[in-house]
Amino acid sequence: MLAGRKKRRMAEPSNLNVSFEFFPPKSEKMQTQLWQAVERLAPLQPSFVSVTYGAGGSTRGRTHETVKRILRDTSLQVAAHLTCVDATKDDVNAVLEDYWQAGVRHIVALRGDPPDGVGAKYTQTENGYRNAADLATGARRLHDFEITVGCYPEKHPESPDFQLDIELLKQKIDGGARRAVTQFFYDNSVYFRFLEKARAAGISVPIVPGIMPVLNFASLQKMAQTCGTTIPQKLLRMFENLDNDTETRQMVAATLAAEQCLDLASQGINHFHFYTLNRAEMAFALCHMLGVRPEEKSAD
Ligand code: FAD
Repeated sequence: MLAGRKKRRMAEPSNLNVSFEFFPPKSEKMQTQLWQAVERLAPLQPSFVSVTYGAGGSTRGRTHETVKRILRDTSLQVAAHLTCVDATKDDVNAVLEDYWQAGVRHIVALRGDPPDGVGAKYTQTENGYRNAADLATGARRLHDFEITVGCYPEKHPESPDFQLDIELLKQKIDGGARRAVTQFFYDNSVYFRFLEKARAAGISVPIVPGIMPVLNFASLQKMAQTCGTTIPQKLLRMFENLDNDTETRQMVAATLAAEQCLDLASQGINHFHFYTLNRAEMAFALCHMLGVRPEEKSAD
């Protein structure tokens, strides 16, 4: 929490929104795990669930199948992630058109990472969308999609400074994005500082914290390094010597994620986006602690 930040009343559970992010499964086993997670989390009536798009469009077919199945078999609002990588505007527009015809009305518009991996230079595909703002604008021009975009409380790794990121976020909003979801973070003060910068720049749309509970600390450390997310000393200390102790690790992870969410909620945050990694338990427990429960949540 920022020093001196005033505690606000936690939003009533009926005013709390949650959303869940899934990735398209690769195998039968992963498929089963995903649908178990969807079924477990659906009664919480999330504002939406989203399905990621593999780097460079590598999961294009699987993303489509997953999005369409959620649409067909559940009453959830589903958002399809889409990137600009290795695709012309015509390619991307064809995907958008296909989604629209299938009844998908919500897109998470992203630039995507360079095909050679994070850290490599990003080159716009010839006749492709330049970045997420350009994609958001193009999608809205095509159809009346609801658009969500990404943002980076610790700055995007490619950006020299926050100013460029904030400027690009403004362009995404001007292009028609209705909300931004943040990259995952573990220090809430970092999120609130970013929120202040965005508000000062006149960005008024919801900036929804992306919550990534620690399911596997070793792989999380690698991912965090790539994404530019800081792992606070406190977290490092908490997971010390737990590599071979799954049970304790899970309890520590749940406690820390609960602390993070409850602190955000106590400061007035009323929408949480959970990176579920296709597992329901942690997200369900966190929602329960926030007061978002199957029988209590009224429709948005
Ligand atoms: P943008 O904000 O468009 O740009 C990213 C960076 O590129 C900028 O911060 C800036 O440094 C630079 N840049 C862009 N335009 C310009 C310009 N005109 N001039 C100068 N510099 C510029 N990736 C996937 O592959 N699939 C997913 O499903 C996926 N889901 C995600 C969901 C969320 C909520 C988030 C936060 C990220 C997700 N990502 C996903 C990762 C994302 O694709 C990468 O972080 C990517 O590097 C940036 O995408 P963006 O949409 O934020 O890009």
